[in-house]
Amino acid sequence: MKKHSGQDRSLTSRWRPATQAVRGGTWRSEQGETSEALFLTSGYTYDSAEEVAARFAGEATGMQYSRFQNPTVQMLEERIALMEGAEACKVQASGMAAMTSALLCMLSAGDHVVAGRAAFGSCRWILDNVLNRFGITHTIVDARDNDQWKAAIQPNTKVFFFETPANPTLDIVDLEYVCGLAKQNGILTVVDNAFASPVLQRPMDFGADIVAYSATKLMDGQGRVIAGAVCGSDAWINGVLSPFQRNTGPIIAPFNAWIVLKGLETLELRAMKQSENALKVGKFVATRVERMLHPGLPSHPQHNLAMKQMRAAGPIFSFILDDRKQAMGMLNALRIADISNNIGDSRTLLCHPASTTHNNMGPEKRAEAGVEEGMIRINVGLEDPDDIIEDLDQALTAVGL
Ligand SMILES: *Cc1c(COP(=O)(O)O)cnc(C)c1O
Repeated sequence: MKKHSGQDRSLTSRWRPATQAVRGGTWRSEQGETSEALFLTSGYTYDSAEEVAARFAGEATGMQYSRFQNPTVQMLEERIALMEGAEACKVQASGMAAMTSALLCMLSAGDHVVAGRAAFGSCRWILDNVLNRFGITHTIVDARDNDQWKAAIQPNTKVFFFETPANPTLDIVDLEYVCGLAKQNGILTVVDNAFASPVLQRPMDFGADIVAYSATKLMDGQGRVIAGAVCGSDAWINGVLSPFQRNTGPIIAPFNAWIVLKGLETLELRAMKQSENALKVGKFVATRVERMLHPGLPSHPQHNLAMKQMRAAGPIFSFILDDRKQAMGMLNALRIADISNNIGDSRTLLCHPASTTHNNMGPEKRAEAGVEEGMIRINVGLEDPDDIIEDLDQALTAVGL
Protein backbone atom coordinates (compact mmCIF):
# COMPACT_ATOMS: atom_id res chain seq x y z
CA MET A 1 0.00 0.00 0.00
CA LYS A 2 1.13 3.50 -0.79
CA LYS A 3 0.95 6.02 1.97
CA HIS A 4 -1.77 8.60 1.51
CA SER A 5 -2.64 11.70 3.51
CA GLY A 6 -6.24 10.40 3.83
CA GLN A 7 -5.01 7.89 6.42
CA ASP A 8 -3.16 10.42 8.55
CA ARG A 9 -5.47 11.57 11.36
CA SER A 10 -3.13 14.39 12.38
CA LEU A 11 -3.89 15.90 8.95
CA THR A 12 -7.41 14.71 8.16
CA SER A 13 -8.90 15.75 11.48
CA ARG A 14 -8.01 19.36 10.58
CA TRP A 15 -9.52 19.17 7.08
CA ARG A 16 -12.85 20.85 6.48
CA PRO A 17 -15.87 18.52 6.18
CA ALA A 18 -16.14 18.64 2.36
CA THR A 19 -12.50 17.61 2.03
CA GLN A 20 -12.95 14.80 4.55
CA ALA A 21 -15.96 13.51 2.58
CA VAL A 22 -13.94 13.23 -0.64
CA ARG A 23 -10.46 12.30 0.60
CA GLY A 24 -10.79 11.07 4.19
CA GLY A 25 -9.71 7.47 4.72
CA THR A 26 -8.28 7.00 1.22
CA TRP A 27 -5.60 4.35 0.83
CA ARG A 28 -3.82 3.78 -2.46
CA SER A 29 -2.40 0.54 -3.73
CA GLU A 30 0.95 0.34 -5.55
CA GLN A 31 -0.95 1.24 -8.77
CA GLY A 32 -1.74 4.73 -7.48
CA GLU A 33 -5.40 4.54 -8.55
CA THR A 34 -7.42 7.78 -8.31
CA SER A 35 -10.67 6.24 -7.11
CA GLU A 36 -10.58 3.97 -4.06
CA ALA A 37 -9.97 0.32 -4.93
CA LEU A 38 -12.50 -2.39 -4.28
CA PHE A 39 -10.82 -5.30 -2.50
CA LEU A 40 -12.99 -8.31 -3.28
CA THR A 41 -11.07 -10.77 -1.19
CA SER A 42 -12.04 -12.95 1.73
CA GLY A 43 -8.49 -13.62 2.90
CA TYR A 44 -4.88 -12.47 2.72
CA THR A 45 -1.51 -14.12 2.12
CA TYR A 46 1.67 -13.64 4.08
CA ASP A 47 5.37 -13.59 3.32
CA SER A 48 6.13 -15.97 6.17
CA ALA A 49 4.54 -18.12 8.84
CA GLU A 50 6.09 -15.86 11.47
CA GLU A 51 4.41 -12.82 9.86
CA VAL A 52 0.94 -14.30 10.12
CA ALA A 53 1.62 -15.47 13.68
CA ALA A 54 2.63 -11.93 14.63
CA ARG A 55 -0.56 -10.51 13.13
CA PHE A 56 -2.76 -13.01 14.99
CA ALA A 57 -0.86 -12.25 18.21
CA GLY A 58 -1.56 -8.55 17.69
CA GLU A 59 2.16 -7.81 17.45
CA ALA A 60 2.09 -6.73 13.80
CA THR A 61 -0.49 -4.74 11.89
CA GLY A 62 -2.05 -5.95 8.66
CA MET A 63 -5.07 -7.77 7.33
CA GLN A 64 -5.93 -11.32 8.41
CA TYR A 65 -9.41 -12.19 7.16
CA SER A 66 -12.22 -10.08 5.75
CA ARG A 67 -14.51 -10.84 8.67
CA PHE A 68 -11.94 -8.90 10.74
CA GLN A 69 -10.66 -6.27 8.31
CA ASN A 70 -10.81 -5.35 4.65
CA PRO A 71 -9.05 -2.35 3.09
CA THR A 72 -12.18 -1.03 1.32
CA VAL A 73 -14.22 -1.42 4.50
CA GLN A 74 -11.54 0.34 6.55
CA MET A 75 -11.52 3.28 4.14
CA LEU A 76 -15.26 3.67 4.69
CA GLU A 77 -14.90 3.39 8.47
CA GLU A 78 -12.23 6.05 8.58
CA ARG A 79 -14.22 8.41 6.36
CA ILE A 80 -17.43 8.08 8.39
CA ALA A 81 -15.52 8.57 11.68
CA LEU A 82 -13.99 11.79 10.32
CA MET A 83 -17.31 13.14 9.07
CA GLU A 84 -18.98 12.29 12.38
CA GLY A 85 -16.22 13.81 14.51
CA ALA A 86 -15.88 10.39 16.19
CA GLU A 87 -12.69 8.67 17.30
CA ALA A 88 -13.66 5.46 15.53
CA CYS A 89 -16.30 3.70 13.44
CA LYS A 90 -17.20 0.13 12.47
CA VAL A 91 -19.54 -0.61 9.60
CA GLN A 92 -22.06 -3.45 9.43
CA ALA A 93 -24.23 -5.30 6.92
CA SER A 94 -27.31 -3.17 7.61
CA GLY A 95 -28.65 -0.43 9.83
CA MET A 96 -30.37 -3.07 11.94
CA ALA A 97 -27.11 -5.01 12.35
CA ALA A 98 -25.59 -1.73 13.57
CA MET A 99 -28.37 -1.05 16.11
CA THR A 100 -28.42 -4.66 17.35
CA SER A 101 -24.64 -4.85 17.71
CA ALA A 102 -24.45 -1.51 19.52
CA LEU A 103 -27.16 -2.48 22.01
CA LEU A 104 -25.90 -6.02 22.62
CA CYS A 105 -22.42 -4.64 23.29
CA MET A 106 -23.75 -2.40 26.07
CA LEU A 107 -26.42 -4.39 27.81
CA SER A 108 -26.53 -7.41 30.11
CA ALA A 109 -29.33 -9.28 31.86
CA GLY A 110 -30.99 -7.06 34.46
CA ASP A 111 -30.26 -3.79 32.66
CA HIS A 112 -32.86 -1.23 31.64
CA VAL A 113 -33.20 0.91 28.50
CA VAL A 114 -35.16 4.13 28.04
CA ALA A 115 -36.24 4.56 24.41
CA GLY A 116 -38.10 7.18 22.40
CA ARG A 117 -41.71 6.35 21.44
CA ALA A 118 -41.24 7.02 17.76
CA ALA A 119 -38.70 4.71 16.22
CA PHE A 120 -38.01 2.63 13.17
CA GLY A 121 -40.28 -0.43 13.54
CA SER A 122 -37.40 -2.91 13.83
CA CYS A 123 -35.66 -0.85 16.54
CA ARG A 124 -38.79 -1.22 18.62
CA TRP A 125 -38.96 -4.92 17.74
CA ILE A 126 -35.46 -5.53 19.15
CA LEU A 127 -36.51 -4.05 22.49
CA ASP A 128 -39.72 -6.07 22.65
CA ASN A 129 -38.57 -9.37 21.19
CA VAL A 130 -34.80 -9.75 21.56
CA LEU A 131 -33.60 -7.80 24.59
CA ASN A 132 -36.71 -8.79 26.52
CA ARG A 133 -35.79 -12.48 26.24
CA PHE A 134 -32.48 -11.79 27.99
CA GLY A 135 -34.04 -9.97 30.92
CA ILE A 136 -33.33 -6.47 29.60
CA THR A 137 -36.33 -4.27 30.28
CA HIS A 138 -37.30 -0.94 28.77
CA THR A 139 -39.47 2.11 29.25
CA ILE A 140 -40.87 4.00 26.29
CA VAL A 141 -41.08 7.79 26.61
CA ASP A 142 -42.37 10.63 24.50
CA ALA A 143 -38.89 11.65 23.42
CA ARG A 144 -39.92 15.29 22.84
CA ASP A 145 -40.58 15.72 26.56
CA ASN A 146 -37.37 16.22 28.57
CA ASP A 147 -39.15 15.50 31.86
CA GLN A 148 -40.18 12.03 30.69
CA TRP A 149 -36.53 11.06 30.15
CA LYS A 150 -35.68 12.14 33.67
CA ALA A 151 -38.67 10.38 35.24
CA ALA A 152 -37.93 7.10 33.43
CA ILE A 153 -34.43 6.64 34.89
CA GLN A 154 -34.11 3.60 37.17
CA PRO A 155 -31.09 2.49 39.22
CA ASN A 156 -30.35 -0.14 36.51
CA THR A 157 -30.79 2.16 33.47
CA LYS A 158 -27.79 1.66 31.19
CA VAL A 159 -28.82 3.11 27.85
CA PHE A 160 -30.91 5.91 26.32
CA PHE A 161 -31.83 4.89 22.75
CA PHE A 162 -33.52 7.29 20.35
CA GLU A 163 -33.79 8.77 16.88
CA THR A 164 -33.90 12.46 16.08
CA PRO A 165 -35.66 13.33 13.85
CA ALA A 166 -37.62 10.16 14.52
CA ASN A 167 -39.37 7.91 12.06
CA PRO A 168 -42.06 8.69 10.94
CA THR A 169 -43.32 11.43 13.27
CA LEU A 170 -40.20 13.63 12.98
CA ASP A 171 -40.13 13.99 16.78
CA ILE A 172 -37.06 16.03 17.74
CA VAL A 173 -35.07 15.06 20.83
CA ASP A 174 -33.23 17.81 22.71
CA LEU A 175 -29.74 16.34 22.24
CA GLU A 176 -27.95 18.67 24.64
CA TYR A 177 -30.41 18.07 27.45
CA VAL A 178 -30.94 14.33 27.03
CA CYS A 179 -27.25 13.50 26.48
CA GLY A 180 -26.33 15.74 29.46
CA LEU A 181 -28.92 14.02 31.66
CA ALA A 182 -27.53 10.64 30.62
CA LYS A 183 -23.96 11.68 31.46
CA GLN A 184 -24.96 12.91 34.92
CA ASN A 185 -26.50 9.51 35.59
CA GLY A 186 -23.79 7.29 34.12
CA ILE A 187 -26.06 6.26 31.23
CA LEU A 188 -24.84 5.74 27.66
CA THR A 189 -26.70 7.41 24.77
CA VAL A 190 -27.20 5.60 21.46
CA VAL A 191 -28.50 7.98 18.79
CA ASP A 192 -29.88 6.62 15.51
CA ASN A 193 -28.94 9.49 13.18
CA ALA A 194 -30.24 8.01 9.91
CA PHE A 195 -32.69 10.84 9.16
CA ALA A 196 -29.98 13.50 9.38
CA SER A 197 -26.57 12.03 8.45
CA PRO A 198 -23.40 13.71 9.78
CA VAL A 199 -23.87 16.53 7.26
CA LEU A 200 -27.08 17.75 8.89
CA GLN A 201 -26.47 16.82 12.53
CA ARG A 202 -23.56 15.57 14.64
CA PRO A 203 -24.99 14.23 17.92
CA MET A 204 -21.51 13.85 19.45
CA ASP A 205 -21.15 17.64 19.39
CA PHE A 206 -24.02 17.61 21.93
CA GLY A 207 -22.58 14.83 24.10
CA ALA A 208 -23.86 11.60 22.50
CA ASP A 209 -21.70 8.52 23.21
CA ILE A 210 -22.65 6.34 20.25
CA VAL A 211 -24.08 7.37 16.88
CA ALA A 212 -25.52 4.55 14.80
CA TYR A 213 -26.61 4.59 11.18
CA SER A 214 -28.55 2.94 8.52
CA ALA A 215 -26.03 3.88 5.80
CA THR A 216 -28.65 2.56 3.36
CA LYS A 217 -30.34 5.94 3.65
CA LEU A 218 -28.63 9.28 2.96
CA MET A 219 -25.08 7.88 2.96
CA ASP A 220 -25.65 5.63 -0.06
CA GLY A 221 -28.48 7.92 -1.06
CA GLN A 222 -29.11 6.32 -4.40
CA GLY A 223 -31.06 3.25 -3.32
CA ARG A 224 -28.39 0.70 -4.16
CA VAL A 225 -27.19 -1.12 -1.05
CA ILE A 226 -28.07 -1.98 2.54
CA ALA A 227 -25.42 -0.92 5.06
CA GLY A 228 -24.94 0.24 8.65
CA ALA A 229 -22.38 2.02 10.83
CA VAL A 230 -21.63 2.59 14.51
CA CYS A 231 -19.42 5.48 15.70
CA GLY A 232 -17.97 5.99 19.17
CA SER A 233 -14.81 6.29 21.23
CA ASP A 234 -11.69 4.45 20.16
CA ALA A 235 -11.78 2.42 23.39
CA TRP A 236 -15.39 1.28 22.94
CA ILE A 237 -15.33 0.71 19.16
CA ASN A 238 -12.01 -1.13 19.09
CA GLY A 239 -12.16 -2.68 22.55
CA VAL A 240 -15.83 -3.71 22.76
CA LEU A 241 -17.67 -3.55 19.42
CA SER A 242 -14.84 -4.80 17.25
CA PRO A 243 -14.31 -8.14 19.08
CA PHE A 244 -18.10 -8.62 19.14
CA GLN A 245 -18.31 -8.07 15.41
CA ARG A 246 -15.28 -10.19 14.64
CA ASN A 247 -16.77 -13.15 16.48
CA THR A 248 -20.47 -12.77 15.60
CA GLY A 249 -20.03 -11.66 11.99
CA PRO A 250 -22.61 -8.98 11.02
CA ILE A 251 -20.07 -7.53 8.60
CA ILE A 252 -20.56 -5.60 5.39
CA ALA A 253 -19.53 -6.93 1.97
CA PRO A 254 -16.60 -4.93 0.50
CA PHE A 255 -18.66 -4.10 -2.59
CA ASN A 256 -21.41 -2.52 -0.49
CA ALA A 257 -18.82 -0.64 1.55
CA TRP A 258 -17.32 0.72 -1.66
CA ILE A 259 -20.72 1.95 -2.87
CA VAL A 260 -21.31 3.82 0.40
CA LEU A 261 -17.75 5.20 0.34
CA LYS A 262 -18.42 6.74 -3.07
CA GLY A 263 -21.84 7.93 -1.88
CA LEU A 264 -20.21 9.96 0.89
CA GLU A 265 -18.40 12.11 -1.69
CA THR A 266 -21.73 13.67 -2.69
CA LEU A 267 -23.53 13.40 0.66
CA GLU A 268 -23.33 17.09 1.51
CA LEU A 269 -24.59 18.20 -1.91
CA ARG A 270 -27.46 15.74 -1.79
CA ALA A 271 -28.46 16.28 1.85
CA MET A 272 -28.49 20.06 1.49
CA LYS A 273 -30.30 20.09 -1.87
CA GLN A 274 -32.87 17.50 -0.77
CA SER A 275 -33.48 19.52 2.43
CA GLU A 276 -34.09 22.63 0.30
CA ASN A 277 -36.44 20.71 -2.01
CA ALA A 278 -38.27 19.21 1.00
CA LEU A 279 -38.85 22.69 2.37
CA LYS A 280 -40.32 23.87 -0.92
CA VAL A 281 -42.51 20.77 -1.29
CA GLY A 282 -43.48 21.01 2.41
CA LYS A 283 -44.65 24.60 1.98
CA PHE A 284 -46.88 23.46 -0.86
CA VAL A 285 -48.34 20.51 1.08
CA ALA A 286 -49.07 22.87 3.99
CA THR A 287 -51.41 24.84 1.72
CA ARG A 288 -53.50 21.69 1.13
CA VAL A 289 -53.21 19.54 4.24
CA GLU A 290 -53.96 20.75 7.74
CA ARG A 291 -51.67 18.50 9.76
CA MET A 292 -47.97 18.44 8.86
CA LEU A 293 -44.91 17.13 10.65
CA HIS A 294 -42.02 19.07 9.08
CA PRO A 295 -39.38 20.36 11.52
CA GLY A 296 -38.08 22.78 8.87
CA LEU A 297 -41.34 24.76 8.88
CA PRO A 298 -41.78 27.47 11.55
CA SER A 299 -45.25 26.04 12.25
CA HIS A 300 -43.62 22.90 13.70
CA PRO A 301 -43.69 23.08 17.53
CA GLN A 302 -40.04 21.96 17.73
CA HIS A 303 -38.79 24.06 14.82
CA ASN A 304 -36.41 26.16 16.95
CA LEU A 305 -34.88 23.13 18.64
CA ALA A 306 -34.46 21.38 15.28
CA MET A 307 -32.70 24.41 13.82
CA LYS A 308 -30.46 24.70 16.89
CA GLN A 309 -29.06 21.21 16.48
CA MET A 310 -29.43 20.62 12.72
CA ARG A 311 -27.92 22.41 9.75
CA ALA A 312 -31.08 21.79 7.70
CA ALA A 313 -34.22 19.76 8.38
CA GLY A 314 -33.51 16.95 5.92
CA PRO A 315 -35.43 15.40 3.02
CA ILE A 316 -38.16 13.65 5.03
CA PHE A 317 -41.45 14.89 6.46
CA SER A 318 -44.89 13.49 7.15
CA PHE A 319 -48.44 14.75 6.73
CA ILE A 320 -51.75 13.39 7.89
CA LEU A 321 -54.80 12.76 5.76
CA ASP A 322 -58.24 11.76 7.07
CA ASP A 323 -57.77 8.00 7.16
CA ARG A 324 -56.00 4.97 5.67
CA LYS A 325 -58.33 4.90 2.63
CA GLN A 326 -57.58 8.49 1.66
CA ALA A 327 -53.84 8.04 2.27
CA MET A 328 -53.69 4.94 0.09
CA GLY A 329 -55.83 6.63 -2.58
CA MET A 330 -53.37 9.50 -2.73
CA LEU A 331 -50.39 7.16 -3.08
CA ASN A 332 -52.16 5.26 -5.85
CA ALA A 333 -52.72 8.51 -7.77
CA LEU A 334 -48.99 9.45 -7.93
CA ARG A 335 -47.47 9.66 -11.44
CA ILE A 336 -43.84 10.71 -10.82
CA ALA A 337 -43.03 10.00 -7.19
CA ASP A 338 -42.94 6.32 -6.25
CA ILE A 339 -44.65 4.35 -3.54
CA SER A 340 -41.64 3.04 -1.63
CA ASN A 341 -40.67 2.64 2.01
CA ASN A 342 -37.02 3.71 1.57
CA ILE A 343 -35.75 7.14 2.60
CA GLY A 344 -32.67 9.26 1.90
CA ASP A 345 -32.87 8.28 -1.78
CA SER A 346 -32.33 10.75 -4.60
CA ARG A 347 -35.82 9.86 -5.83
CA THR A 348 -39.00 11.16 -4.23
CA LEU A 349 -40.62 8.26 -2.38
CA LEU A 350 -43.83 8.14 -0.39
CA CYS A 351 -45.18 5.50 1.95
CA HIS A 352 -47.99 4.76 4.36
CA PRO A 353 -46.11 3.83 7.58
CA ALA A 354 -49.09 2.26 9.39
CA SER A 355 -49.41 -0.49 6.76
CA THR A 356 -45.69 -0.90 5.98
CA THR A 357 -42.71 0.11 8.15
CA HIS A 358 -44.81 0.16 11.31
CA ASN A 359 -47.29 -2.60 10.44
CA ASN A 360 -45.78 -5.27 12.68
CA MET A 361 -46.11 -3.08 15.80
CA GLY A 362 -49.87 -3.56 15.87
CA PRO A 363 -52.44 -0.79 16.43
CA GLU A 364 -51.73 -0.13 20.12
CA LYS A 365 -48.01 0.48 19.84
CA ARG A 366 -48.61 2.45 16.65
CA ALA A 367 -50.95 4.76 18.55
CA GLU A 368 -48.34 5.13 21.33
CA ALA A 369 -45.67 5.92 18.72
CA GLY A 370 -47.90 8.52 17.08
CA VAL A 371 -48.19 6.61 13.79
CA GLU A 372 -51.67 7.55 12.63
CA GLU A 373 -53.80 5.69 10.09
CA GLY A 374 -53.92 8.67 7.70
CA MET A 375 -50.19 9.42 7.92
CA ILE A 376 -48.04 9.62 4.79
CA ARG A 377 -44.25 9.94 4.96
CA ILE A 378 -42.39 11.52 2.07
CA ASN A 379 -38.71 11.51 1.18
CA VAL A 380 -38.09 14.39 -1.22
CA GLY A 381 -35.45 13.62 -3.84
CA LEU A 382 -33.30 15.54 -6.28
CA GLU A 383 -35.92 15.92 -9.02
CA ASP A 384 -37.09 19.45 -9.83
CA PRO A 385 -39.34 20.21 -6.84
CA ASP A 386 -41.89 21.89 -9.13
CA ASP A 387 -42.50 18.56 -10.89
CA ILE A 388 -42.99 16.89 -7.51
CA ILE A 389 -45.35 19.67 -6.38
CA GLU A 390 -47.43 19.21 -9.56
CA ASP A 391 -47.54 15.47 -8.95
CA LEU A 392 -48.62 15.86 -5.31
CA ASP A 393 -51.14 18.51 -6.38
CA GLN A 394 -52.93 16.16 -8.77
CA ALA A 395 -52.72 13.21 -6.31
CA LEU A 396 -54.25 15.27 -3.48
CA THR A 397 -56.96 16.52 -5.86
CA ALA A 398 -57.71 12.92 -6.81
CA VAL A 399 -58.69 12.16 -3.20
CA GLY A 400 -60.76 15.32 -2.81
CA LEU A 401 -58.20 17.60 -1.16
C1 LIG B 1 -33.87 2.29 7.74
C2 LIG B 1 -33.67 2.59 9.16
C3 LIG B 1 -33.10 1.65 10.02
C4 LIG B 1 -32.72 0.26 9.55
O1 LIG B 1 -31.70 0.28 8.63
P1 LIG B 1 -31.46 -0.87 7.51
O2 LIG B 1 -30.27 -0.39 6.78
O3 LIG B 1 -32.70 -0.94 6.69
O4 LIG B 1 -31.23 -2.14 8.25
C5 LIG B 1 -32.92 2.00 11.34
N1 LIG B 1 -33.27 3.22 11.81
C6 LIG B 1 -33.82 4.16 11.00
C7 LIG B 1 -34.17 5.48 11.56
C8 LIG B 1 -34.02 3.88 9.66
O5 LIG B 1 -34.57 4.80 8.86
